[in-house]
Amino acid sequence: MKKFTNSNQLFKQVKEVIPYASQTFSKSFYQYIKGEAPLFATEAKGAYIYDVDGNRYIDMINGLLPVVLGYQYKAVDDAIKAQLKKGIIFSLPSLLEYELAKLLKKHIPSAEMSRFGKNGSDATSGAIRVARAVTGRDYIAVCGYHGWHDWYIGSTTRNLGVPESTRKMTYKFEYNNIQSLEALFKKYPKKIAAVILEPENYEPPKDNFLKKVVDVAHKNGALAVFDEVITGFRWDLGGAQKYYGVTPDLSSFGKSMANGMPISALVGKRKYMEKVNDIFYSFTAGGEALSLAAAIATIKEMEKKPVIKKLWTLGGLLKNGVKNLVKTHNLEDVIGMKGQAPWQIFSFHEANGFSDLEIKTYVQQEMLQAGVLWYGSHNMSYAHSPNDVKFLIKTYDKVFGNLRNLLDQKTLRKNIKGGLITNIFKVR
Ligand code: PMP
Repeated sequence: MKKFTNSNQLFKQVKEVIPYASQTFSKSFYQYIKGEAPLFATEAKGAYIYDVDGNRYIDMINGLLPVVLGYQYKAVDDAIKAQLKKGIIFSLPSLLEYELAKLLKKHIPSAEMSRFGKNGSDATSGAIRVARAVTGRDYIAVCGYHGWHDWYIGSTTRNLGVPESTRKMTYKFEYNNIQSLEALFKKYPKKIAAVILEPENYEPPKDNFLKKVVDVAHKNGALAVFDEVITGFRWDLGGAQKYYGVTPDLSSFGKSMANGMPISALVGKRKYMEKVNDIFYSFTAGGEALSLAAAIATIKEMEKKPVIKKLWTLGGLLKNGVKNLVKTHNLEDVIGMKGQAPWQIFSFHEANGFSDLEIKTYVQQEMLQAGVLWYGSHNMSYAHSPNDVKFLIKTYDKVFGNLRNLLDQKTLRKNIKGGLITNIFKVR
C-alpha cells in the first residue's frame, strides 16, 4: 500500500502560504482523491516521477503535456547547460531567437514570422490583440480552452474578477458544428475580430471542419487562429495544421516545444504578424535564452528521432488496449476514451447510482496505488516504453474488472478510501 503521509502533512503547511498549494489548477489537490494521493513531486526522470513520500509512478501527465521527450532528456538538458555558461537573459536580443523562428518557419505552415512568450496564454492573447488591431473589431469566437487571460476566461464559469464589458465580447461555438459559428457571425455582424479554436481535442474534425472554420472566418472579415498549445509538436512537428493540411492566419504554440522549459510562440502569416510592430506585445523574459536553447534542441531532436511517430504508435496501442478492456469488462456506458494517440482523454459516466466523479476517483485511487500518476488522460512522452504500456494495460484490466464488480454489487462508494476529486472547471 502506498502511503501519502508527507504529502498530506505538507499540504497543510503549504496552503497557508500558497493559495490551493499549487501554481496550476490541474496540478493541485483538486485533481486528486483527497488524502490518498501524492500532492508534491521531488524529481522525475524519463517516464517516472517521485513524490515526497518516496513513491515512484509512471507519469501519464508529464507536466500537463510539455514533457514530450521525457524528464531530464540529455540532448535538451545539455543545450540548457551549455547556454547557462553563456548567460540566461541578455540586454539585447540573442540570435537564438532568429534560429528558433527559422525552425518554426521550416515546420509550421502558418509560421512565416514568430514572436515568443512564456505561457500559452501569452501567445493566444497576442493573437487576439493582433486580430483586433487588424480588423478594428472587438468580439472573439472561441472553441476550447485558450488560457487564463480576461478575454477568454470571462467566457467560462470561472469568470470572477473579469469585467462584464470584457465578458460580453467573447462567445463560444461548438466543435464540428459550423452552423454554430455561422450563427455567431449572424448575431454579431461585423463585430467578430477572430475565430480561435483548438484544432482538435476530444473529437477529430469531421466534414472538413477546420477548412470550413477558416473559410467562414474569412468570408466574414475575421482572422482564423488555431490554438495549437497542445496539438503543436505532438500531432506533427508542424502541429495539427500540418497534420490536417489547413493553414490558419495566426497560431499559438507552447507546452511541448521545449520539453518543459517555459516558452510559447505566436506565429502567423507575414501580413498579420507585421501588425505586431504596432500593437503592444513585449515583455522582459520574451527572449530568455535557456528556454530558446531548449526549444531549438527539442525540435532538432524531433527532427532526428521518430518522436512523433512513437507518440502515435505507442499511444495508439495504449488507446486501443483501453478501448478493448472497456468492452471486455462491459463498461462501455461507463468509461469513454477520446482524443488522438498523443493525447488521450477519458470520460466517465454515472452508472448503477454512482456518479461520474465517484467512478473516476475510484479508478484514480487504484491507478495511484499501482504506481501510475493519473488524472484521466494519457499525455504520451517519447520516454514511455512498450513495457510501460504493457504494465498500464495489465493494470487497467485489473482495475476495470474490480470496478465492474463494485458497480454490480453497488459497493463502489465503500471502496473509495478518500474524498472525491473536485470538478472545479471544465471547458472541454
Ligand atoms: N491553449 C490551450 C489549448 C491549452 O491547453 C492551454 C493550457 N492548458 C493554454 C492555451 C494556455 O497555456 P498556459 O497555461 O501555458 O498559459
